[in-house]
This record gives sequence, structure tokens and C-alpha cells, in this order.
Amino acid sequence: MDPIDKLTAGFKVFRDGRFKEQRATYEALVDQGQSPKVALVACSDSRVDPGIVLQADPGDLFIIRNVANLVPPCERGGRFHGTSTAVEFAVDHLEVGHIIVLGHAHCGGIRSLFDSPGESGRDDSFVPSWMGLVRSAYLRVEGTMPEAPLEDKARICEQSAVMVSLENLMTFPSVRERVADGRLRLHGWHIDIRSCALQVYDPASQHFEAVG
Ligand SMILES: [Zn+2]
Repeated sequence: MDPIDKLTAGFKVFRDGRFKEQRATYEALVDQGQSPKVALVACSDSRVDPGIVLQADPGDLFIIRNVANLVPPCERGGRFHGTSTAVEFAVDHLEVGHIIVLGHAHCGGIRSLFDSPGESGRDDSFVPSWMGLVRSAYLRVEGTMPEAPLEDKARICEQSAVMVSLENLMTFPSVRERVADGRLRLHGWHIDIRSCALQVYDPASQHFEAVG
């Protein structure tokens, strides 16, 4: 089936099925406005759809997606800060109580760190610059475990990307303030859709621990 036809057909299935069943929920979300309790930063990867893998309901999640689930540091310069705008909206306007950064296995953005120079296309491509946010993790694994399988090195970088995003979230003044007074909690998660395993960062052990 043509990919666009598949999507319009999918909309009709939604309209005649789930929407009909949950019409009251959708109407309430429009009439009363959204008030998600959780914002989630995820990768744009087509295989890891947060709504599906976490079985969320409409109105549950304010989702921010980009390449490699990265949050940049809070910077006031420049003009078009898509991810920072969404973080600010979630925290200052929606007043979410939690932000989850959801990393994932087999992330193409993370794998691009291991490409040879020039392999990712144009010299002025956006990807290398964006992935520079987590380049220190790449340099660290290449420096400390150069002979390890790529999958192992990539896994460490995927988890480091989650940690970098959590650290950068704390550079947003309103995030820092709300974390300090307990109104906001930050969470680092990593999911592998091949083994269907979810790991959650435990600040006490400073490791990602499997969720039963
Ligand atoms: Zn990814």
C-alpha cells in the first residue's frame, strides 16, 4: 500500500474506532485543555514511538522528539530553539511534574558519531553539529575501550546521551528551580525494542537498572 494511503486509512480506523470509544476523553481534553503530568524527550526514530511502547493515553504525555533525544544547554542567543522552546512550554506553562529522557538502542544519531569524517554527507550538515552535544562520550569510549564491539560502545553513548540531556535540562533556570523545590523530577530511561527491555537510571547506583 502507498505509505500516504496507509496513513489516511489509519486515520479513518482511528476515527471510527478509538476516537468513537474515547470521544468524551478527547472532548474534555479540548474543552478543559491539556494538563499532562509528564514531558518526555525521545528520539525521532520511527521504531520507538513513546505513545505505543509506554501505552499512554491521550493527554498523558507532552512529547519532544529530535535526533538522539538530546536537550541542548539553555542558550539565549540565536532564534529557533525548537527543543528548548518545548522544554520551556512543558515546564513553565504546562507545569509538568516529571521529565523523562528516553534513550534507545540502535539509535542512528548515536551511530553517526562512529561514522568516519565526511560519511554523514555535507560538511555543513546539521547532524554532526547537533551530535556534538554528546561527542565527549564518544571520545571517552573510543579512548577507554577502542577494541569493544560497536554495539557496546554505542550503548554507552546512548546512555550518556540521556545523562547529557538530564544535565542540560538543569541549565534551564525554571527546571533547576522546580527540581530544587520538589515540583519537578527528572528521569533517565533507555529502551531496547529488540529485546523489549526498559532500563531506568538509578542515581544511587549511578547505573541504568532493568525494569522487571
Ligand atoms: Zn535514535
